[in-house]
Amino acid sequence: MDKESIQSLLGILIWGGLFVLMMRYGCGAHIMGGHGHHGGDKGADGGGTTKDPVCGMSVDPQHAAAASVHEGKTYYFCSPSCRDKFEQAPQKYLSASAPEGGEHGGHHHG
Ligand SMILES: [Zn+2]
Repeated sequence: MDKESIQSLLGILIWGGLFVLMMRYGCGAHIMGGHGHHGGDKGADGGGTTKDPVCGMSVDPQHAAAASVHEGKTYYFCSPSCRDKFEQAPQKYLSASAPEGGEHGGHHHG
């Protein structure tokens, strides 16, 4: 093997390596990833599902076990017992829009 062919071989290796790196970490990654973010996911909140304000479950109004009208708005529930809880204290469930991590107990020192 003469010197020239070794150099050209090295050149191919270097450019090949760069190409692989570019495909991995550069703009090629987007193509390889195939990870389109546009276009809505056909997932949980696809159609006309609504949320049970008591337990946070998503409920299909057409198959809801219970419903209650509060201030002109219809709320749907996964079960009659959730509806009962809601009707006893609607404000409690409507004001707490984010049920997770609710009971923090405020500031406690000591
Ligand atoms: Zn429920």
